[in-house]
Amino acid sequence: MDPTPGLILKAQSGFFTVRTSAGDFTCQLRGKLKKERLAIDLAAIGDQVTISTQPDGTGMIESIAPRRTVLMRGTPHGSKRVDRSKEKGQVLIANPDQAVFVFACANPAPHLRMLDRFIILAEVMHVPAVICANKADLITPQAARNIFDLYLQIGYHVIYTSASTGQGVEEFKDRLRGRLSVLAGPSGVGKSSLLNAVQPGLGIKTRSVSEATTKGRHTTVHSELLPLDIGGFVADTPGIRALALWDVEPDELDAYFVEIRPLVSECEFNDCTHLNESGCAVRKAVVNGAISESRYNSYCMIRKG
Ligand code: GDP
Ligand code: ZN
Repeated sequence: MDPTPGLILKAQSGFFTVRTSAGDFTCQLRGKLKKERLAIDLAAIGDQVTISTQPDGTGMIESIAPRRTVLMRGTPHGSKRVDRSKEKGQVLIANPDQAVFVFACANPAPHLRMLDRFIILAEVMHVPAVICANKADLITPQAARNIFDLYLQIGYHVIYTSASTGQGVEEFKDRLRGRLSVLAGPSGVGKSSLLNAVQPGLGIKTRSVSEATTKGRHTTVHSELLPLDIGGFVADTPGIRALALWDVEPDELDAYFVEIRPLVSECEFNDCTHLNESGCAVRKAVVNGAISESRYNSYCMIRKG
């Protein structure tokens, strides 16, 4: 029988739920695949695969397409660490189209250091970052823009929403439509409420997935892509919150700040850390307002470790 193309929706202890045009199949990996791709997870949610179906109604994953993007911990991307081929990376999700970082305008107050760390991860992994400023009903539109517009200015997409009043929910929905999105953010910012506003019941599902996956550092007992009625998928991945930046070398950090990156070549010293050197183009830009102090503070805090 011809292999059927499909998408892995769910991965649990060696079993994968694969969605195909002929329905969902519970599959295992063909043995020969296990010999390949050892450094990182063999198969993960979001992987495009082909399966063969068995007489008993189950399936066998025959091939896994190369990943366009990946969100993982213990990433082998970017840095110069030696022997990284021996590192065991855990793929949280394969082929995400975007990462949507949800923060509240208030209650809880937005934690911009955390947002900046999330954005660096997205930059490291080449996944477009979208910022969702929820609970916009709690402060004035001007106050909200004072907090989040700086991200718009450096090129990120910012959506102001309120799951309570419905403001911005259509825009949020349009952003999810047809894409594979990873949703991340601190608890209490309204992620579940927003998803429920997009599709009734969706927030409940992500919550049960989160609770299952937050237990234990390396367990992906229950990671899942949730199909949207409007097309596309959402993964609310609690794993991303625990992602450390250990794999970003201090001297490459400046490359992951989109507004700092273009200035680096103008610094007086090649190896400028942008922390205290004279002739630093980055510090000059902070002084004249071209780079926001908030972002520069995040840079300094992460750079100093
Ligand atoms: P999660 O932990 O990120 O999934 O957050 P929840 O969706 O559970 O929301 C946390 C709390 O914030 C709940 O009491 C929600 O009713 C409330 N909430 C969610 N969205 C909004 C919003 O846009 N405005 C206001 N005022 N409250 C909200
Ligand atoms: Zn510098």
